[in-house]
Amino acid sequence: MRDYSVRLLTDLLGIYSPSGKEENISNFLVKEMETLGFRVRKDAIGNVIGEIGKGEPTILLCGHMDTIVGNLPVRVENNKLYGAGAVDAKSSLAAMIIAAATLARESALQAKVLVVGAVEEEATSKGIKHIIKQGLQADYAIFGEPSGVENITIGYKGSLHLKITCKTETGHSSTPWFYENALEKAFELWQRIKNAYPPVEEQESPYHAVTACLVKLTGGKGNSKVPSESEMRVDIRVPPQLTVAQVFNVIESVIKQYQTANLKVQVKVTIWDQNEPFEVAKNSLLVRALSYAIRKVQNKPATLLRKTGTGDMNILGRATNIPIVTYGPGDSHLDHTKDEHILISEYLAGIQVYKETILKLSELHKKSGSQ
Ligand SMILES: [Zn+2]
Repeated sequence: MRDYSVRLLTDLLGIYSPSGKEENISNFLVKEMETLGFRVRKDAIGNVIGEIGKGEPTILLCGHMDTIVGNLPVRVENNKLYGAGAVDAKSSLAAMIIAAATLARESALQAKVLVVGAVEEEATSKGIKHIIKQGLQADYAIFGEPSGVENITIGYKGSLHLKITCKTETGHSSTPWFYENALEKAFELWQRIKNAYPPVEEQESPYHAVTACLVKLTGGKGNSKVPSESEMRVDIRVPPQLTVAQVFNVIESVIKQYQTANLKVQVKVTIWDQNEPFEVAKNSLLVRALSYAIRKVQNKPATLLRKTGTGDMNILGRATNIPIVTYGPGDSHLDHTKDEHILISEYLAGIQVYKETILKLSELHKKSGSQ
């Protein structure tokens, strides 16, 4: 068991799979999962979908096959396995596959488990969006991303990415007092946007705070003209007690006020990306089953995490009404670093936790249905 688990993960790490180039790893997974007893298919955009077991409930275990660009040599050192995706998130994916397959082999599986290896999580979330469009049905879902083996990620903030352009009349930069400078105006407007909400330390917590970050500001030609055009990108993070639309309304009114006070500047705002926040109910059967499993495997109570980032969980959470968490072995601080590695013992514990979770969740689900 241990040998196979380590070999599967080593094989996955050995196949370089940056976003958009998942062909080789998906072919490998299809074969491997078939051997393990899954009914496997690859969908139109390359997601691998393996099904094992039958009956209720249906539990979706969703991992991703892609990594960011940049390969790392695979090596074992001091019981740590190094490689691109060791933490984010091939350990989770391998652990999910092995957990479901082992339960089926032991004839202990009393549920239908879907294990998905999604494409392009690191880039566009195209994989999960396609799966939702296909109408994949499940009662519960776990996203395999590193939370650490003792922690469950129960919430992620949402995001609102804005593109804001400012246009002004231009003239010679030797007489700047005659004209409005589109770069300066953009920065002035940015400061109003930043001040639309109190500083993070004055809000309830970073997780519950609305935050704004200026991520790009361009404009002007660097010649002897007063800049007449600017473009800024602002990344706003939305806490779970609010919706993206509520936050956008506040920002939009700040922009309107600024526009009214600065008639010589033409301001235009567009949304170029948005994600609703998502948080699962703490008392849901899924959180209970996973907490039970962690306590059983690790002899410690689980810690519930709420993260300031966003994940694929947000996208599925918005599209369905099912309980969803993010859980997986590994330290997420190592994501996307040159030092990315997983402790083999933590990876193996992760497999056990997934197994126990599937068992407990099937049991709780059946009990709740018969009440
Ligand atoms: Zn990831």
